[in-house]
Amino acid sequence: MDNQPRSEFDLIGRFFADLGAHRADVLLGVGDDCALLEVPVGLSLAVSIDTLVAGIHFFHDCDAEAVGHKSLAVGLSDLAAMGASPAWATLALTLPERNDDWLAAFARGFGDLARTYGVRLVGGDTTRGPLSVTVQVHGLVRPAAAVRRDGARPGDLVWVSGTLGDAGLALRHLREGDPVDPALRARLERPDPRVALGSALRGIATAMIDLSDGLAGDLGHILAASGVGAEIDLAAVPLSSAVASRIASEGDWSLPLSSGDDYELCFCAPPEQASLIGSLGNTLSCALSVVGRIRPEPGLVARMPSGESITLTNAGYDHFSDNT
Ligand code: ADP
Ligand code: MG
Repeated sequence: MDNQPRSEFDLIGRFFADLGAHRADVLLGVGDDCALLEVPVGLSLAVSIDTLVAGIHFFHDCDAEAVGHKSLAVGLSDLAAMGASPAWATLALTLPERNDDWLAAFARGFGDLARTYGVRLVGGDTTRGPLSVTVQVHGLVRPAAAVRRDGARPGDLVWVSGTLGDAGLALRHLREGDPVDPALRARLERPDPRVALGSALRGIATAMIDLSDGLAGDLGHILAASGVGAEIDLAAVPLSSAVASRIASEGDWSLPLSSGDDYELCFCAPPEQASLIGSLGNTLSCALSVVGRIRPEPGLVARMPSGESITLTNAGYDHFSDNT
């Protein structure tokens, strides 16, 4: 920590000096003024940073291993949405006090996920203050192959991976003090970034984004960047049975449309690619669903299961309960 230099170096050496996968492209890792990293000729660095603040992005009493996992997972999800291959991470950690049990669990959650995706922790900063975790991730991608938000074209199908709304439902249960099914809770606290899917969609998807804020808003970013609109069919939105029964009982679609933290991928692709994408999903054991289609007219229209169509605006998508 800043005011305790010796204990800071001890802490870094103990928990962060050897975290994640070993990589030959790390010429110098944790311990010097900078890390030295080798970027292969012809590839670009894809860089993204996210901060998780205790009490805002996770509960103060949240399991430290889950905080370590999620702080890296959200960045890996951004790399996935770009079609980039994860390589390195840096970590800025602000801690109210040194707690070695907490640090060991945090490092385990972070390190396990880092090794799973071949990521090396190459540096960071450690300070004293209210608990907050900032992770920057660095991935590699050929610039021409990166999947951006601006490539969606009229006629493209709109796809999503996995099921939507589970993390939002887990958060509601936790906020209401209700018991939460562990699998549902894991969707909120230990998201699995769709790294393999993101890379596999290079050259296939015309536009892609990861779902951190709900389908309506995040697909809205693709539509705005691409200068198009879309129609989505709510009956086609993939739901777990828990979310489906909540929607059936409350008639409120805000869980899949506007709750956050799903970290699934939403992407667009011409209909001719549908069978290839279907087989990709089988190979990767990842459910992939067509939820709609890109249209030339701007705006996002949702077809309700009743057949009625509703225009979703940025502010409006959680104001249409009781329409099923
Ligand atoms: P400097 O004062 O030169 O910025 P620091 O004392 O902040 O260096 O950090 C010493 C070394 O430890 C640096 O290589 C830095 O990247 C690394 N480091 C500091 N905190 C962390 C952390 N939380 N995770 C990983 N590496 C860290
Ligand atoms: Mg420093």
